[in-house]
Amino acid sequence: MAQIELKHVKKVFSEKMLGSVVAVDDFNLEIEEGECFSFLGPSGCGKTTTLRMIAGFEDLSEGEIHLCGRPVSIKSKNLYIPPEDRGLGMVFQAFAVWPHMNIFDNVAFPLKVQKVPRLEIKKRVEQALKHTNLTGFESLYPGNLSGGQQQRIALARAIVTNPKVLLLDEPLSNLDPKLRESMRFEIKELQKKFNFTIIFVTHDQSEAMALSDRMMVMDMGKIVQIDTPRNLYNKPINRFVHNFLGKSTFVKVNLRNNKVYPDGDMTQTISCKIPENAAGKEKMVIAARPNAINLNKNTGFKTKIEKRVFLTDCTEYYVKIGSQLLMIQTPHRIVFSEGEECCVEFAETMWYDDDGNAAEEERNRRQLI
Ligand code: ADP
Ligand code: MG
Repeated sequence: MAQIELKHVKKVFSEKMLGSVVAVDDFNLEIEEGECFSFLGPSGCGKTTTLRMIAGFEDLSEGEIHLCGRPVSIKSKNLYIPPEDRGLGMVFQAFAVWPHMNIFDNVAFPLKVQKVPRLEIKKRVEQALKHTNLTGFESLYPGNLSGGQQQRIALARAIVTNPKVLLLDEPLSNLDPKLRESMRFEIKELQKKFNFTIIFVTHDQSEAMALSDRMMVMDMGKIVQIDTPRNLYNKPINRFVHNFLGKSTFVKVNLRNNKVYPDGDMTQTISCKIPENAAGKEKMVIAARPNAINLNKNTGFKTKIEKRVFLTDCTEYYVKIGSQLLMIQTPHRIVFSEGEECCVEFAETMWYDDDGNAAEEERNRRQLI
């Protein structure tokens, strides 16, 4: 039995000025006990709304949510269990700690609400502080602590009630990159210790990939793909997922008589196998990871180096393929100079329909509301 189950969950917000937005559209989802599951997608795609519906802070427009086999929200039956009775721990993006309470009282708060006896509170707060490396900070106030420490208070408060499920909404996005990485690790360690089920919300793909057993990529209120980080990276189902998970290079191509021509050049072909999903089509987009393109002197599409950038881990070369600029990443030992002639071979490609940028406007609109 899944620990968290969403069935046909939908949420529509009505905005006077901008019309209504379907923030979450027909979500069906099962998350297993002990899983670290990420919601990943650009700003405005519906991550927070989904999490808030699971937590019980937001009503559903349609559908059902079940936790541990128990219904907690069923729209058609008007069933709704309030957040405090759902047995969840939550950490939000903003440092949601109370500035007028010391660290001990901040962490003890949920237990006081539950009317846990005083001695038991002391014991459990001490435990939670120990697991989040805050022992000794009890009598300080949040204002005295750094951003990372404040997020630890929020984490301690989320785990003090021994929840089975932790909901984390971009908990690391206000921290600097180094701290983010170490907190990532700490969250993972906590999960191992307590076997929490975690839903981790983020727009940062490397964070999601580092933490998750499975991830759900979302776009404009829709589930696009659910899979392991590895499968999502290697087998993205569309251009959006491909682009969202790691660096991508796209080339628009025209297909004529089983030959592949880059957009803007009908004199030279790109040599690669045309996959089944391109059969009968005239326009497609080829996608390749920048490190899966072979730059060499003799074989492949002839062009020249437009620009070269040295980075710490690789060299980036920009070359023209027809009318498009293509970015290639190579190890430092492959050396070309700017203006030099070269050839480009696509080692691994994925092919997508050329759906243009029609979705871009809708994405921007969502971020404005
Ligand atoms: P994310 O967390 O992925 O950035 P949200 O879940 O916050 O996205 O928002 C999804 C969509 O719903 C966005 O278009 C957002 O503007 C809209 N939205 C969220 N909350 C409200 C609200 N309370 N009222 C109106 N629109 C909202
Ligand atoms: Mg959000």
